[in-house]
Amino acid sequence: MSECTVIVGRCTTTFEGARDEHQHGDVLVMVKPDNTVLVHDAAGYQPVAWLTRPESVTVTDGTVAARDGDQHLEVEVHDTHVRDRYPTSDAGIPVGECPDCGSTLVRSGGSVSCPSCESYSLPRNATVLEETCVDCGLPRIRVERGASFVVCLDRGCESLDERVRAAFDREWSCPECGGDLRVLRRGGLLLGCEEYPDCETGFAFPDGTHEGNCGCGLPLFETPTGQRCLDSTCTVE
Ligand SMILES: [Zn+2]
Ligand SMILES: [Zn+2]
Ligand SMILES: [Zn+2]
Ligand SMILES: [Zn+2]
Repeated sequence: MSECTVIVGRCTTTFEGARDEHQHGDVLVMVKPDNTVLVHDAAGYQPVAWLTRPESVTVTDGTVAARDGDQHLEVEVHDTHVRDRYPTSDAGIPVGECPDCGSTLVRSGGSVSCPSCESYSLPRNATVLEETCVDCGLPRIRVERGASFVVCLDRGCESLDERVRAAFDREWSCPECGGDLRVLRRGGLLLGCEEYPDCETGFAFPDGTHEGNCGCGLPLFETPTGQRCLDSTCTVE
């Protein structure tokens, strides 16, 4: 669990670097899990002193000292009003409720996580739905991989790969050797030649729905950025 150190107190702040500053007052000092140090006074949104993701930070009873190259921020705490460590997380978009603990699930970056339990990585360009899984209670997601698939957020509960495989495994042929294209996972899903390693032909599975065929013989996909051939380098219309 990531924690943030919070100190409210009467402090003297000294910054040395691009500019030299010296301040004194009753302020709020935060040390974030990425070591970012922020010193806030009574007004405005902007800190009066800060160092973003410094190389090092040392927190002792009476001081917070951060250093990054030739920049140095030191906060001397003379009189402590509040001092503690609190759990912090990424703030994400709320997307439902954790079936295990009832906390709000949030989507940030490429994953959906419960602040108290687990994190689930999302397939590329997935949409998190309001509908929940009848087996585990997690939200279901919609993913376009040749067709539109709706599956459980938890791959362990319901496998997107199996659904895509059932629909498109051996559906198309390799343009190089005529072998079947298999649905494989190498990080992301791809369509790779069954003759691998003799034939190394492989294409990342487009985030779109299959709509007819390209003049080159490979399938065409309707994607958010337009129509494209399975082979992203194909110039045949
Ligand atoms: Zn939970
Ligand atoms: Zn489920
Ligand atoms: Zn091949
Ligand atoms: Zn093509």
